[in-house]
Amino acid sequence: MTLFDTNLDKHNPTAEHLWNEVQNSIHFRELFDAVIDAMLLVDSSGQIMLANPAAQHLLGYTHDELRSLDVEQLMPARFRENHRHYRKQFLAEPRQRLMGSTCELAILNRHGEEVAVNISLSPIAIKEQAAKAIYILVTFIALDRRRQAENALRESEERLWLIKQAAGAGIFDIDCANGRIYCDERMRELWWNEADEIMTLGKFFSTVHLSDRAKCQKLFEEALNPEMEGKCRTAFRIINGSEHSERWIATLSQTQFDNGSAKRIVGIARDITERKLLEQTLQQQRNETELLFNKQVAILTAAAIAHELNSPLTAISAYSEVAQRALSVTPVDCDKAKEALSGCFDQAQLAGHKLYELIGFLQGREIETEKLNINRIVEDALLQARSDGYSEFHIILNLEPNIPPIKANKIHIQRILVNLIRNAVEAMRAANVVDSEITIAVKTLASEKMAVVTIEDNGPGIDQKVISQIFDPFFTTKPTGFGMGLSISRALIEANGGQLWIDPVYQDGAQFHFTLPLA
Ligand code: ADP
Repeated sequence: MTLFDTNLDKHNPTAEHLWNEVQNSIHFRELFDAVIDAMLLVDSSGQIMLANPAAQHLLGYTHDELRSLDVEQLMPARFRENHRHYRKQFLAEPRQRLMGSTCELAILNRHGEEVAVNISLSPIAIKEQAAKAIYILVTFIALDRRRQAENALRESEERLWLIKQAAGAGIFDIDCANGRIYCDERMRELWWNEADEIMTLGKFFSTVHLSDRAKCQKLFEEALNPEMEGKCRTAFRIINGSEHSERWIATLSQTQFDNGSAKRIVGIARDITERKLLEQTLQQQRNETELLFNKQVAILTAAAIAHELNSPLTAISAYSEVAQRALSVTPVDCDKAKEALSGCFDQAQLAGHKLYELIGFLQGREIETEKLNINRIVEDALLQARSDGYSEFHIILNLEPNIPPIKANKIHIQRILVNLIRNAVEAMRAANVVDSEITIAVKTLASEKMAVVTIEDNGPGIDQKVISQIFDPFFTTKPTGFGMGLSISRALIEANGGQLWIDPVYQDGAQFHFTLPLA
């Protein structure tokens, strides 16, 4: 390589002599490699042409590896964007200069780690055939470790400050030897502390809410224990005696141990009063809702029991009266008394059975189902309703012959049917319908694998204004009604795999339908 044409003052005769000497005896490469500072020779496109051993050491690359790199690849991403622009500027006006007058510079080593450096640039014009090409001699001077450590510390402090500001956190630092607590400004604010007030552990514990104090003292003792990890995260209330106010504080701290004993506990604290109050309000609301729900469940259960026991108790009362009368005549009408007492017995059994079923249902006990002939159940329910005193109606039965069996609980279905028949009779009675008539139709919906039962009456029907409420618990228009019949019936039908609904457009009375799965 032939050299040089730098900015050295070659026109001074002594320098010129020296220059000639140097030029004659020392090769550029030897000089370049001997320099203690890391140097790269870069061409005008940014391609690394030469790297001296100091540069290879600083960057962790071999010479050949550096030769294949572009100088920009050594720059942290944040500097890359503007670099091309700076290179152009430099080439337009090549002169020795220091880079990075406005910011700290760094380069990336082989491991992608940033190394803080000062960078100087020197243009070198090298004669290449007829033309002159500008090369740039880049010199890196690594900043000393202490400065790097200071920079890192300053950056981490800045980051911590940002986090602290964002979280509204205060910092405390407990000197375990004398129990003094250093608090930053925010921490004093959190503790309602005067700027000149010395904070001590004793004072700190005295501000902690009585209910949280023992917990805090225990945690503090644990934090001092070198056998534990020294990390502590907790939340507690502090009290401002003079203002009678309390504040929730969350702290996170780390103990620093030295020779097996705790030296310092450094931590941050945040005001979490707002969050705690919100949690308390939510908890209170949850409790209230739960209470209301439990109350509702209790009321519904009691109402369901009353509904189930109402008719057997009425029947028992009627039978008892008959027995009383049969026993008070002379001669005693033993047969009548026996018959009435047997009626009492049956009704008491029925009541017990209904209760057992109901409790099982409320407990979510698996219901016992069997293959049933729905036509037969309709007939049984009619008999039952009539024997319960609901008999003054003309019945029309449209039962599908040879209907396939359904799979359901017999007692449930019979009870639902009796309830629907009773409702129809009660509605027609209340409206003084003369030719009261109930039609029960049963057919299969083969496509759905369901049987459909329809019960309609020629009573007053249901007012459109309340039709959407009739399945609600406690909805009743009867003076002595419980309003539970339809809601229990719907729940039972659903438990048996079917559905129960009312036809909302039926005009000539009320028309209810329910489905049940075929076996
Ligand atoms: P309850 O019979 O105790 O009132 P139900 O849940 O069985 O409770 O019925 C709720 C309400 O639905 C009745 O009070 C009545 O207003 C209405 N209802 C039910 N069936 C009929 C019907 N066939 N015709 C007219 N109204 C009816």
